[in-house]
Amino acid sequence: MKKDVIVVGGGVIGCSIALGLAQAGLKVAVIERGRAGCEASRAAAGMLSPQTEAPGPGPFFDLCLRSRSMYRDFAAQITELSGIDVQYRDEGSLCLILESEDERTVDDWVSWQTEAGLALERVSADDARKAEPALTRSVTGAVYIPEDHQVENRRLMDALETALRRVSVEMIEGEEVDSLIMDGSRVIGVVSGGARREAGAVIIAAGCWSGRLLERVGLSVEVVPARGQIVALKGEASLIRSIVHSSLCYLVPRRDGRILIGSTTEYVGYRKGVTAGAVNALLAGAIEMIPALEDFEIVETWSGLRPDTTDHLPVMGFSGIDNLLIATGHFRNGILLAPVTSALIAEVVIGGRTPEELRPFSMERFDSSHTRRQKETAVF
Ligand SMILES: Cc1cc2nc3c(=O)[nH]c(=O)nc-3n(C[C@H](O)[C@H](O)[C@H](O)COP(=O)(O)OP(=O)(O)OC[C@H]3O[C@@H](n4cnc5c(N)ncnc54)[C@H](O)[C@@H]3O)c2cc1C
Repeated sequence: MKKDVIVVGGGVIGCSIALGLAQAGLKVAVIERGRAGCEASRAAAGMLSPQTEAPGPGPFFDLCLRSRSMYRDFAAQITELSGIDVQYRDEGSLCLILESEDERTVDDWVSWQTEAGLALERVSADDARKAEPALTRSVTGAVYIPEDHQVENRRLMDALETALRRVSVEMIEGEEVDSLIMDGSRVIGVVSGGARREAGAVIIAAGCWSGRLLERVGLSVEVVPARGQIVALKGEASLIRSIVHSSLCYLVPRRDGRILIGSTTEYVGYRKGVTAGAVNALLAGAIEMIPALEDFEIVETWSGLRPDTTDHLPVMGFSGIDNLLIATGHFRNGILLAPVTSALIAEVVIGGRTPEELRPFSMERFDSSHTRRQKETAVF
């Protein structure tokens, strides 16, 4: 049966968009060449950390903050729909200042966020160690961010997959979309697994593979893979309560007792290996922050490919070709940005206009000679 919308890519972005559209009453299919979340979305660390990650104020930071404010409800809703607890945790994040690091940089960061009205607290080394007793003696201070939380993203992807089936989204897994079907200047569907599948609109949410599909219809959006590697350790006790960051690496405690150590950012094409150098650097950083991790066992290592763009910002909304939309390039923040992306793309599809918050992330900022202007019209 013809769908209202086909979403290409079953990562956190594609699945969250599909959920929002199905809940608005549309007939939706997700086509995923592997299984839901099999790429970056399962490889992530699940931090919801706009304040820790932010280089400065601006529309992207605002977008991240809005998504963070939606997360508790988003997680509760998906948990309820699926029956799978996505393990939303709200202990906050602690950013360490280590010996030899310049405290003035941290003070600048604390002051612009304080001026922006955000919650964060400069704490002494002693107070940091009271909160997290396993911390190294070489901490000279820290910043506590109470509202930067986390979710267990593997469980989130399992839950999203189940939730989508419960709201009658057709999940087509193990099938690759090879091409888009054009009728004159409009997209009317996709070809996948040798079959033609028609839809009122197609949304490309294929992570760092999105550019390849868009190229085939003459759209130039450079989405490149940025590899990130993670090492997971397990010991007798978890050792940390909150997420702990430093300039060396970050540590994310999970409910099952694992501590994730992340991550690298490497531009090595589509290679997903785990390298000796990265494991070495991540372990050294983690043990410098929490010396007792030395006795923990390595239980798993993995890597994933973040979808990055030339300006490191997402690209979302109308594509320039009628009935074809894009939602990708979420780079380091795709887990965090899932709820706001879902809400804004629903506004575009149903309302037929680009919400103000999406304008800085539109296709138009890329080479306009490759993109035809598209009227802003509702697809439904
Ligand atoms: C190590 C690491 C740590 C991270 N930590 C965090 C974090 O703490 N917090 C955070 O917010 N973000 C984090 N991220 C970033 C986050 O994982 C990504 O931004 C997010 O997962 C991107 O989601 P996506 O759905 O766009 O892409 P993906 O999850 O890559 O999904 C795209 C999907 O499209 C499918 N696909 C591709 N081409 C086709 C095709 N032709 N036909 C059908 N299907 C296709 C793929 O199989 C894939 O499943 C991290 C990433 C990594 C790698």
